[in-house]
Amino acid sequence: MPITNSIYAFPIDGKFRRVHHGPILANWKKAADAKGFAIVGRAVSHEHLVLGCKTCGSPTPKRVSVVRDHNPECPHCIRTRRENAAAGYGATLLGPDPKGKRRYGLYELPCGHADRRQHTRVETAAAGGHKLSCGICLRARHAREAEAQGWQLICNADRKHASYRRYEHACGHRQNVTIANMRHGDVDCASCGESWTSKPSKIYLLRFQLPESPVIKLGYSSNPEYRVRQVQHDPLVTKGAVIRDIPMTTGHQAVRIEKALHSFIAASWPDLIVPSKNFEQHLRTVSEIYDHRAEAFISDLLDAVVDGWDPTSDMPPF
Ligand SMILES: [Zn+2]
Ligand SMILES: [Zn+2]
Ligand SMILES: [Zn+2]
Repeated sequence: MPITNSIYAFPIDGKFRRVHHGPILANWKKAADAKGFAIVGRAVSHEHLVLGCKTCGSPTPKRVSVVRDHNPECPHCIRTRRENAAAGYGATLLGPDPKGKRRYGLYELPCGHADRRQHTRVETAAAGGHKLSCGICLRARHAREAEAQGWQLICNADRKHASYRRYEHACGHRQNVTIANMRHGDVDCASCGESWTSKPSKIYLLRFQLPESPVIKLGYSSNPEYRVRQVQHDPLVTKGAVIRDIPMTTGHQAVRIEKALHSFIAASWPDLIVPSKNFEQHLRTVSEIYDHRAEAFISDLLDAVVDGWDPTSDMPPF
């Protein structure tokens, strides 16, 4: 039976379609009804039906075989669902994927950048499943972190090593480094030899709450605040804080002084050392943890170091 020249008076998925006169079989009606649609008529070709969505009222053309044998979906309801999910995340669905993939769409992210995203990932993000990070913002952050260390972010390292990036040092040499190591300045240039051991560092004193009593940690790092976060399993439980830190001109000097301080404390007040079984469930470290009563004593030792005491010598600190 041919398609007619009469046209439906309303758009069907955005287009005005020609009416196809032909019977609508009872088993089609039954199948459509069971799947949430009413059959409005026939259009496009003898193989197509016009369905009316019982949820949103919008018409959509579907093949007879899809209505009969599969689960037809309403594109208007899907679009609304995706728009709502995006809005719940502070994003906006701008339109279909510019690369034409059905599972993807073009979204404006909460930061204002527009990017392709898988629809299902936006919906999980909106449901609190995971974060919808922006590649442009992330790259800008990695570039800033590299600049702070005297390096320039060039590009991704390669497909196999997702955590690596390619960076260029101030001397012009390029090498691959993990994002995390670059962030914390744990990077040695293979060409000019500038390394973390030759850059400024700090000796720190940290405090953590444990179920029995507070403890303190003595150590070195170029970034004690980061070290506090890194060492805790659950910051809400251990409530870590930097008590103080003192500057060291190089990482190499920091290692040397810190090791000597641990030896000095172990020789003078061995009972202040907290056994690892008391903290290993709460802190990601194996040693260097002292009873909180040691705080004033160790702080005095740090004052002595600032005043020029070298704990690697045989000289007394006070
Ligand atoms: Zn619908
Ligand atoms: Zn962004
Ligand atoms: Zn270099």
